[in-house]
Amino acid sequence: GISTVQRRSAALEELIHRDPGRFRVLTGDRPTGRLHLGHYFGTLHNRVRLQDLGVEMLVIIADYQVLTDRDVADHLTEHVEDLVLDYLAVGVDPERATIFTHSAIPALNQLLLPFLSLITVAELSRNPTVKEEIAQSQQSSVSGLMFTYPAHQAADILFCKANLVPVGQDQLPHLEVTRTIARRFNSRYGNGVPVFPEPDALLSAAPLLLGTDGAKMSKSRGNAIALAASADQTAKLIRGAKTDAHRHITYEPTTRPEVSSLVLLASLCLDHDPHQVAEDIGGRGSSALKETVTEAVNTYLAPIRDRRALYAQDRDHIRKVLRDGNERAAAIAQTTLDEVRATMNSLY
Ligand code: ATP
Ligand code: MG
Repeated sequence: GISTVQRRSAALEELIHRDPGRFRVLTGDRPTGRLHLGHYFGTLHNRVRLQDLGVEMLVIIADYQVLTDRDVADHLTEHVEDLVLDYLAVGVDPERATIFTHSAIPALNQLLLPFLSLITVAELSRNPTVKEEIAQSQQSSVSGLMFTYPAHQAADILFCKANLVPVGQDQLPHLEVTRTIARRFNSRYGNGVPVFPEPDALLSAAPLLLGTDGAKMSKSRGNAIALAASADQTAKLIRGAKTDAHRHITYEPTTRPEVSSLVLLASLCLDHDPHQVAEDIGGRGSSALKETVTEAVNTYLAPIRDRRALYAQDRDHIRKVLRDGNERAAAIAQTTLDEVRATMNSLY
């Protein structure tokens, strides 16, 4: 459950601080739109922090996975470049981190065939995040890609033998699939020598930030506050956010999810305790809460937005970041694929 992972995340933090060189991180995003505050406080902030502690990091732009819940990948180039801009703006450093696109690494995708043999249809059917996404999807039937994408993610993570994955809560079932596949590969083929690590999830303080409609903030739901939004757009979106009927503001995530998510957002931007933030607003109601959140978010994001605007003027740089990242990722994938084939005794 989530509390176990949260405890484990706290223990991992200690290990990471003591010996960052022991860890390799893989994270990523689907190029379905601009990154938002849910990404930022759910995983991006953690990624940058780990990178700055000296942990090696790879960031996958999961372009094939755009097709899990829609028929065609629209505006793909634009969305990919938007992601890179968001990464650079929040402080991902392409000299230290490898930013790459999934579709550019064929050797990574070859891992999928043996990996699919290591997981059952029953296990794939039980995945609660996939079930939820199927329910949300505009498609009338479930594609094989939607059904199997957690196994694809196992390839995304294990191709570089990442042992740490900073993610939001929705990803925990997928990470279980990755761990299962790694464990079974090792025991079936490894001859006592593990080929793959069983990666750990690293949860942040905001593993599930809600959007303006009270559901999980998502790029594709239209309920997100993008990092790249203007200060005015941000104010407007927050003014329209769902709250509840109680005037007195408190921080109670289980019983008052919408209000508490707003309080949490302000507290993360201000680096204050959420209970204190709620108490300071007290009986002044949700309009005062929204003013506090807007001010906090806009102040926090201002330097990120300025950096993003600067990077946006240099598209050649964006393309070079991807070229370099793809080259590095391809070399890693080939090494792992060679090892997998040797381990499985495929000689050709
Ligand atoms: P889409 O709606 O297209 O699926 P998304 O907003 O869900 O987009 P993803 O690219 O699927 O974003 O997720 C990328 C990463 O961001 C994952 O690790 C996910 O857990 C994390 N994440 C996404 N939304 C949130 C959120 N609201 N709160 C915390 N973490 C989040
Ligand atoms: Mg998603």
